[in-house]
Amino acid sequence: MATDHNQVWQNCIDIIKDNVSMQAFKTWFEPIKPVKLEKSVLTIQVPSQFFYEWLEEHYVPLLKKIIRKELGPEGRLEYSIIMENNYDNANPYTVKVPTTNKKAIKNPSVSMPLDMSDTPIKNPFIIPGLRKLNIDSNLNPNYSFDNFIEGDCNRLARSAGFAVANKPGGTSFNPLLIYGGVGLGKTHLAHAIGIEIKNQYPEKTVLYVSSEKFTHQFIDAVKNNSVNDFSHFYQMIDVLIIDDVQFFSGKEKTQDVFFHIFNHLHQTGKQIVLTSDKPPVEMQGMEQRLLSRFKWGLSADLQTPSLETRIAILEKKMYADGIELPKEVVEYLAYSITTNIRELEGALISLIAQASLNKKAITLDLAKQMIDKFVKNTAREVSIDYIQKVVCDYFDLPIELLKSKTRKREIVQARQIAMYFAKKMTKSSLANIGLHCGGKDHATVLHACRTVNNLQETDKHFRKYLEDLEKKLSIQ
Ligand code: ADP
Ligand code: MG
Repeated sequence: MATDHNQVWQNCIDIIKDNVSMQAFKTWFEPIKPVKLEKSVLTIQVPSQFFYEWLEEHYVPLLKKIIRKELGPEGRLEYSIIMENNYDNANPYTVKVPTTNKKAIKNPSVSMPLDMSDTPIKNPFIIPGLRKLNIDSNLNPNYSFDNFIEGDCNRLARSAGFAVANKPGGTSFNPLLIYGGVGLGKTHLAHAIGIEIKNQYPEKTVLYVSSEKFTHQFIDAVKNNSVNDFSHFYQMIDVLIIDDVQFFSGKEKTQDVFFHIFNHLHQTGKQIVLTSDKPPVEMQGMEQRLLSRFKWGLSADLQTPSLETRIAILEKKMYADGIELPKEVVEYLAYSITTNIRELEGALISLIAQASLNKKAITLDLAKQMIDKFVKNTAREVSIDYIQKVVCDYFDLPIELLKSKTRKREIVQARQIAMYFAKKMTKSSLANIGLHCGGKDHATVLHACRTVNNLQETDKHFRKYLEDLEKKLSIQ
């Protein structure tokens, strides 16, 4: 076995070449430099975070196979990422990221006394003879509780999830149904529960499955005449986590088989965790008896995160990836993307990728250009909150004062300017703008707009303020 990092990487490269297109090879593998080899861990240097994520997403199975071949079963890959973030400095700095350790979280072997024909195994639910079966939990180790930021928006769901993880099947939260809009963390939380249970109770069989996969497995089982095996398989799980159960809507047969599995698990004290994009009362096309089961335990919702939570989520992600961004950029992202954490993270990742690939500094301007691509299907509009923040930063005033009822002269003026821009740049009603700016009524907002317009014509300093602010607030 080769022991020198250059040699090992060269061997890897030779195999990779044969397995990917020339274009892909040139783009994604040629720029990689081997850095070191220590205790079966090969560290390679990649030019950017984006690069690393691309490799992880598209080439992990291949890389894993090759690394095992070269370095044995203990072989691992670590990435060292060059961040071209520090632009005044000719030396790029390096962050080290271990491979997303997507090692399967293992369940204990389970044997089922099923009488089976031998190889080849056509039916995935059949366990030949008394051979042991290892069920992969399908849990993503990155979706842990540690990585799940707590906020008012998720406190109930998070603590219920944590309680369930500490005592699976032993709380009144059975089933635990987590519901909420797209990109608010349902899947993350569902995994976190599974991971925590595996940490505390390694002997328990935990299975995460999307309702889509469950449905497809069931359809296959029907085709193969193995519905009984399918049910048995699910009935021996200790903690069953089914994601996006709304997908069962209108699928009567799947609901039927799930109903029986549910009953069996519930009666035997096993834990069931479900997620859905709606609360049970709004689930259409779901059988009543199933809906009533869903309500047996606890339904906890995930709401849209507050600004502070959004910033904390971004900071956590940056920290995990070893990236630093100017504070104003982080705030801008958090102010602009308010209703979907996946989009928020997507914007952050793209911003870093853009900057890194094009060797541009990550500036507020770049962030503004990028953001449009991420806030899909909604006309981009700055928020009143963002306007208030920019105005307050500009005049160096605390934002609380602007939102208060104080009538101090300089605050009144800043507040009027914020109202003026809110009227001009958002679709908010006068009443809503007033509400955001110290609980004023619509007449006050109208008055503010007139005052600002008048001053703008008569006072050139004031006009300059407005021009500066307008520039700061404009999207592009
Ligand atoms: P959903 O399943 O509700 O559509 P996901 O669980 O897939 O949403 O979450 C979308 C993204 O947002 C994931 O990358 C997830 O890690 C992240 N995320 C959601 N909530 C949080 C949170 N509270 N803290 C950290 N990351 C979060
Ligand atoms: Mg999801």
